[in-house]
Amino acid sequence: MATNEALLIIDYTNDFVATKGALTSGEPAQKLEPTIVNLADQFMKDGKWVILPTDVHTPNDPYHPETKLFPPHNVRGTWGREYYGGLKDWFDKNKDQDKVYMYDKTRYSAFAGTDLDIRMRERKVDTLHLVGVCTDICVLHTAVDAYNLGYNIVIHKDGVATFTEEGQHWALNHFKTCLGAKIV
Ligand code: ZN
Repeated sequence: MATNEALLIIDYTNDFVATKGALTSGEPAQKLEPTIVNLADQFMKDGKWVILPTDVHTPNDPYHPETKLFPPHNVRGTWGREYYGGLKDWFDKNKDQDKVYMYDKTRYSAFAGTDLDIRMRERKVDTLHLVGVCTDICVLHTAVDAYNLGYNIVIHKDGVATFTEEGQHWALNHFKTCLGAKIV
């Protein structure tokens, strides 16, 4: 079985997804839940990696550029940073599995300031499947870095969402035409 593939579940937390989340994409994001949970199950069953790069912030951090851009979100230890819906149950059940990693990230890209690239290279992972939110922010920036680092990129279109339809449409097109991603 191919193990050189990883699923990256990006920022699928209450603050980005739940109706009461601080920075939510709302319904389009909530609809991704079954797709994301099914993919996580499938990847685990196939012996592939499941990585959860998850934004973490300190409220009103004067050094962080997002402080000026967005309300406080994904603050460590809060409800807003817990995974949304069925993904929370999935993670609670599977977090100790060898091939499941949660990652703290502090920027849009899962690669910025993390050891994700080195971990993927050690494990000979060359293909990254991206799901989560937001399509045109954290998923986009992660995909751009993955492209620059030479990974094959697969975007699951029923597994990504954002605030606006234009943003979704633009980003899906960009993944395909500029990053050479496979859209499935
Ligand atoms: Zn953030």
